[in-house]
Amino acid sequence: MNNTIERNLRDVKASLPKDVTLVAVSKTKPVSELMLAYTAGQRVFGENKIQEMTEKWEQMPKDISWHMIGHVQSNKVKYMAPFVDLIHAVDSIKLLKEIDKQAKKHGRTINCLLQIKIAREESKFGLDKENAIAILNSDEVKQLTNVRIKGLMGMATFTNDQRQIRNEFEIISIFFKELKPKYPELEILSIGMSGDYKTAIDCGSTMVRIGSSIFGARNYS
Ligand SMILES: *Cc1c(COP(=O)(O)O)cnc(C)c1O
Repeated sequence: MNNTIERNLRDVKASLPKDVTLVAVSKTKPVSELMLAYTAGQRVFGENKIQEMTEKWEQMPKDISWHMIGHVQSNKVKYMAPFVDLIHAVDSIKLLKEIDKQAKKHGRTINCLLQIKIAREESKFGLDKENAIAILNSDEVKQLTNVRIKGLMGMATFTNDQRQIRNEFEIISIFFKELKPKYPELEILSIGMSGDYKTAIDCGSTMVRIGSSIFGARNYS
């Protein structure tokens, strides 16, 4: 077990370009396993449940960058506001305002990504392009002092069809490149998971979120 996580981490890192950030997705995994990745040098961890992330933050060394990669309800933002580094799946002005309000209470600025809907599945969250642009241009959002929109995040359809996955990643990548000159704070494109991160990197990913290829399959029972 020990060596497996270390070896997986090393293999994944070796396959990433230098300028691509690796988020080790540790949801459902015990702190003991996260610590193996930490000891092997990993400092960026992603979780999708606020309570679980908060418990792990309390127990683990404090030089970790914690990323919330799951859907966020406004009433839960307060629990992660003291420590969260990047919130990947922001999809409304209401949520941005709540993040700003909670960040202020801790004298912090919290970085966010706008989640763009690229998958054809109904179940996936995210904004369409028009709504994302409306958020970026919103005067209300421009007045928020303690949140920063740093980029875009997307999740491809859960499929083995690599051509479809590539199409979906290309949609968000082109959109990201269109926005960048107008919104210089956008520097992160968070696309790619265990099954599709190599395709995501081909399409310009700057941040990959990888769980099972590092920690092994998850057991939800
Ligand atoms: C679970 C999860 C991942 C990681 O998935 P793997 O297939 O295990 O790499 C990435 N992104 C999000 C949003 C997730 O919920």
